[in-house]
Amino acid sequence: MKFSEIPYERADILQAKDDFNRLIEEFKQARSGEEQFEVHKKYYKMNDKFATSFAIAHIRHDINVKDTFYSEEYEYYNQIRPELANLDTEYMKMLYESPYKDYLIKKIGEVAFKNIELQIKSNDSRLIPLMQEENSLITEYNKLIAGAEIEFNGETLNLSLLRKYLVSNDREVREKAYQKRSEFFLSIEKELDDIFDKLVHNRTAQAKELGYENYVELGYCRMSRNCYDKDMVKVFRDQVKEHIVPLVDKIHEGRRKALGLDKLTFIDEGIFFNEGNPKPEGTPDEMLKAGQKMYHELSDETKVFFDFMMENELFDILGRMNKRAGGYQINIPDYKAPFIFANFNGTSGDVDVMTHECGHAFQAFTARDLPISEHKNITSETAEIHSMSMEFFTESWMNLFFGDRTEDYIQMHLKDSLIFLPYGCMVDEFQHIVYENPEYTPAMRKEAWLKLEAQYRPSMDYDGDLFFGKGGRWQSQQHIYNYPFYYIDYCLAMICALQFKASMDENYKDAWNRYLKLCRLSASDYFVNMIKDAGLVSPFEDGTLKEVIEKIEKSLKL
Ligand code: ZN
Repeated sequence: MKFSEIPYERADILQAKDDFNRLIEEFKQARSGEEQFEVHKKYYKMNDKFATSFAIAHIRHDINVKDTFYSEEYEYYNQIRPELANLDTEYMKMLYESPYKDYLIKKIGEVAFKNIELQIKSNDSRLIPLMQEENSLITEYNKLIAGAEIEFNGETLNLSLLRKYLVSNDREVREKAYQKRSEFFLSIEKELDDIFDKLVHNRTAQAKELGYENYVELGYCRMSRNCYDKDMVKVFRDQVKEHIVPLVDKIHEGRRKALGLDKLTFIDEGIFFNEGNPKPEGTPDEMLKAGQKMYHELSDETKVFFDFMMENELFDILGRMNKRAGGYQINIPDYKAPFIFANFNGTSGDVDVMTHECGHAFQAFTARDLPISEHKNITSETAEIHSMSMEFFTESWMNLFFGDRTEDYIQMHLKDSLIFLPYGCMVDEFQHIVYENPEYTPAMRKEAWLKLEAQYRPSMDYDGDLFFGKGGRWQSQQHIYNYPFYYIDYCLAMICALQFKASMDENYKDAWNRYLKLCRLSASDYFVNMIKDAGLVSPFEDGTLKEVIEKIEKSLKL
């Protein structure tokens, strides 16, 4: 069914409460593992129904934020979600303590049970007031950032509209745009500091309430870190410091030469070519057509997937007024349909977004008939492998988008991917430091950030900037306020995607088949086991990054 024709019905909280209570009763009455699993299947159905209503409201709200009907619906879900999450945890506790647990583990898997354990360990109705306060603080931060009104070139711009000037070919334009951006951040510095200070104290209070020493362990539980801990993550970050940081320095030196500058500063971030970075050719519709050709040729599986997306109009990719910023993929379970939301703006980022979100959507499409819902609940380090690897698997078709600048794009994309790794790890290490030291003042946090900059990005030159040069860069990174500890997932996934990149250069078909295997495994096993099954080495193993980088360097033109 076409997305526009899908009927919408609100998922009512009172109804949901009734349903949960009925399920809990039925579950208690069940006299065998088989019977309990039958009840659990009803839970899947109820969940899918709710997720479907929520996804439709979410998408229709984002497509037109001025639509009052869907705005109200969206707000409604935001309000009822903490309560619903609490009911869900109640149900999960019962499942976890079932007398037929062994049977249920066989049925839905060990990983699912581990995730339930983490869910129970990180939720408690006592936390609801603190969690509500946390949500309000996050909303306050997002409003502050979204509310930017920057006067530039006679226009009033928000931060995402200012972006095109931040990446302008004309260095003077960039300089002015960056200056305006710093002025904006300086004007809200006090609020940014206060909100984060409150967030750290709030999250620490939640952790203490549950008996944790600090927020780190609770944050890991909330991210469903079911097979690795902070020491393993540190082994990974240390490898990035040792092997990626020097390579990225070489990439920046190459950029400096290409741009003909005496020195690079922060206003040159993301600029690779004097004539401008490559841009995709054609209108968004033409790009979708090109995407269709690409996925038809790539494999039978991607052909079926892309045709399904097109036939059912499951893309909304054009940037326009009254549309929410950003890009994402979301599932509509009752229709077994993935949906891709984006804001094309004419830069190479449009192609990245398409291939990236198509990676997520393709995986969801591949796993859509899995009978065990838990196997579709993918943790984010795994999910980002599907998307980031797809960015590389589609490289051979980039000529459809970039014409004679295809090679420029491929090099830029690879370099950008490598440049990202130290930054991502820095964001992660920073969060460990701030949550392990909740008593830090805002000034101490900024000092900690600057120390990390020196380790992870030694060549970064903020040119005396009064906000970003004083350790404020992380305050523009929304994940740090919105999704604690999420960021490392992109880095872990990137190392896996780079392994696919290295092997596809040797044997494309074999690499693709292993990728397909990973997509089909979905969330049926632990991350560390699944990547092994797909023939990848673990990012947590010392030595992995050195090996990966040696292979990748072959395709890199420095
Ligand atoms: Zn993603």
